[in-house]
Amino acid sequence: MAKRDYYEVLGVAKNATADEIKKAYRKLAIENHPDRNPGDKAAEERFKEATEAYEVLSDQTKRDAYDNYGFAGVNNAGGAQGYSAAYRDFSDIFSGGGFEDIFSSIFGGGGFRSQQSSSRASNQGQSFRYNVEVELKDILTECKKDITYNRQVPCESCNGTGSSSGKPSRKICPQCNGTGYVRQSSAFFSMQRPCPQCGGEGRIIDDPCPKCHGSGLMRKQQKIRVNIRPGIQDGTDIILQGMGNAGTNGGPYGDLYVRVNVRQDKFYVRQNDDLFVQIPISVTQAALGLSVNVPLLDGTTEKVEIPAGIQDGKMVRVKGKGMPHYRGYGNGDLYVKFRLMVPKRLNAKAKALMTELSQALGEEESPRPMSFEED
Ligand SMILES: [Zn+2]
Ligand SMILES: [Zn+2]
Repeated sequence: MAKRDYYEVLGVAKNATADEIKKAYRKLAIENHPDRNPGDKAAEERFKEATEAYEVLSDQTKRDAYDNYGFAGVNNAGGAQGYSAAYRDFSDIFSGGGFEDIFSSIFGGGGFRSQQSSSRASNQGQSFRYNVEVELKDILTECKKDITYNRQVPCESCNGTGSSSGKPSRKICPQCNGTGYVRQSSAFFSMQRPCPQCGGEGRIIDDPCPKCHGSGLMRKQQKIRVNIRPGIQDGTDIILQGMGNAGTNGGPYGDLYVRVNVRQDKFYVRQNDDLFVQIPISVTQAALGLSVNVPLLDGTTEKVEIPAGIQDGKMVRVKGKGMPHYRGYGNGDLYVKFRLMVPKRLNAKAKALMTELSQALGEEESPRPMSFEED
């Protein structure tokens, strides 16, 4: 495949400023970064091509050579060497832009966990959970929650290398002499445990970054906005990929699990997507019937007609006034349960009227048993 002109690759003019080149590259790198396009060889090639172009055009000397002599002028800048060289500039290009998470893997972490000293294994960063609490009424529509938490990101002062020079070289750990273990003895026994200085690796960075002490990681406050879809069930985890801790030695970021806890409402009980609410009514209201304005969670009211003669505990279903379905469209139903409240105290007038009412109804003096099946 013929090599494309570097300016063409980045889509900038021949006289583009350094800033324009940087911006163009940043855009291409984000679009085509392998982390965002796993398994996509074409995207990886575009990423490499753009990185190579940027590596030359961002360096005035190389850019002059390229302008004058073409690829021949920058022969040894291309290929794998140029590719990796440009990686070191990433923190500069992407600092402050919120791109740290996307570019975590190429900074390379400086963790402790590997067993070998030469080719250190990369580990995925830790995933963790963050709990958010929402009210039932919050999830009638889409709900956004801003959360702030601390996580590990590649150290900003050493670009995650763990080394103050940016080129980590490793020496035998003086505490364990490279074994990775130290022996602890007491009067009765001795035991081995991982060396605290090198974390069991046997080697330590000989010029540790003063900020991260060679770990290559630092804690950083992260703010994100979580979108919670309507109708989410209590205890559901929303998984935000790559928002956990940075991996070590270029390993991928862990994930953030946002657990959504739906607080119980004082009046509304949820069962799947249906809602239940109780409304107290008096004996006379039950006997005469009435229309009730039932308050809904969203602050509106729903007029519900109670037929005359409704019995205690009867439910009226209001279709489509329950919680929204988390998947698909529409809502569950609202069930209004009417509870018959008997007055505990009567004033003289009420008592007289009640007595009169009882006589008018021809109530027997001594009620008889009723079957449990009767209502
Ligand atoms: Zn050690
Ligand atoms: Zn550092």
